[in-house]
Amino acid sequence: MRTMKSREITNPHPCPVYKKCGGCQLQNMRYSEQLAFKQNKVNRYLKKFAKPLPIIGMDVPYHYRNKVQAAFYTNRRGKIISGVYQSGSHHVVGVDSCMIEDKTADKIITAVRKMMPSFKMTTYNEDTRRGFLRHILVKRGFATGQVMLVLVTGTHIFPSKNNFVKAIREKFPEITTIVQNINPYQTNLVLGDRQQILYGNGTIEDVLCGCRFRISPKSFYQINPVQTEVLYGKAIEFAGLKGDETVLDAYCGIGTIGIIAAKRGAGRVIGVELNGDAVRDAIQNAKTNELKNIRFYKGDAGEFMRAAASESEAPDVVLMDPPRAGSSRVFLDSLIKMAPKTVVYVSCNPETLARDLQYLTEHSSYRAKKIQPVDMFPHTNHIETVVLIS
Ligand code: SAH
Repeated sequence: MRTMKSREITNPHPCPVYKKCGGCQLQNMRYSEQLAFKQNKVNRYLKKFAKPLPIIGMDVPYHYRNKVQAAFYTNRRGKIISGVYQSGSHHVVGVDSCMIEDKTADKIITAVRKMMPSFKMTTYNEDTRRGFLRHILVKRGFATGQVMLVLVTGTHIFPSKNNFVKAIREKFPEITTIVQNINPYQTNLVLGDRQQILYGNGTIEDVLCGCRFRISPKSFYQINPVQTEVLYGKAIEFAGLKGDETVLDAYCGIGTIGIIAAKRGAGRVIGVELNGDAVRDAIQNAKTNELKNIRFYKGDAGEFMRAAASESEAPDVVLMDPPRAGSSRVFLDSLIKMAPKTVVYVSCNPETLARDLQYLTEHSSYRAKKIQPVDMFPHTNHIETVVLIS
């Protein structure tokens, strides 16, 4: 890949902190050029399996992120800064408004920063391991308008808790839940293990493809809901459901794809996911959407597949959506053994997708039939792809 320095600036309005922040690697290019760049990359990695379809871009590629995180830091002059870590470092670059983040989320973060001194809230210092606020995480359901505010703190002690909750809710009535997450560890992970709910029920809801979903602070939920509907629409189309199939939703998160498949007529859906909070959300989501023909299991998708492959009742369709590292050998070997008619692979990393497709095509008669890139992350170099394999 080209480095940032060598890239020509052809976007007349790049963000002022585009280079320091590093989050939007492609912001030097116009959006049409970004799409061409991503199409080229997909073609390079995947054309040997099938000719990739044209990438589906966004009509309005701004403020699409429904989940926003900010790090907090006090500089030498005692000024509190909130923003993002400079790429590859632990230096916080101040950011009050970002072109890809939800505007309400940015306003809440800035408001909290300004309120901190009057509530005697300090920032956490990673070196001395003293102080209070480390990060803020805001999640907003674009369809429901519900907002979750998570304060990540180095300690559980929060003396001005009640007054703070009252004050921030007065400023932002759209906040439906506030959670304090305690993270006292020396870690790059934003969220710690313990949390306490300060207001509301600790979750928000959103609506995607006509289904309602509950989201917890720690569960994975796609960050661009507009394009997620496009992506899931393609995944369901590729699954080619007629009405009585058994569908396995592997790496299912809070159950989104499987629940939408069940609503669109799948006979039976089974979901598997490693994160316990996400599985709990998935079970609740099946109930909310009044689905009885769906079961969720907590566990490693590969191990689940290994066990399922030796049972007689194999699924007709496997939908798989692994994290960036891709799938595992155990998973792919079991998939081959299970031999579902159709596999739909949703990937957020063309490199590991190519590796897994290579393995599948070398070790079985599975072939990629359709490759559809979708731009879920405009201005960044991330690429989402959905592949029909049969
Ligand atoms: N399909 C969901 C989630 C996709 S993200 C959606 O569209 O929202 C990938 C998910 O895989 C995450 O929820 C992550 O917790 C889960 N995961 C990661 N490793 C896993 C493993 N080995 N087995 C099962 N799930 C895993």
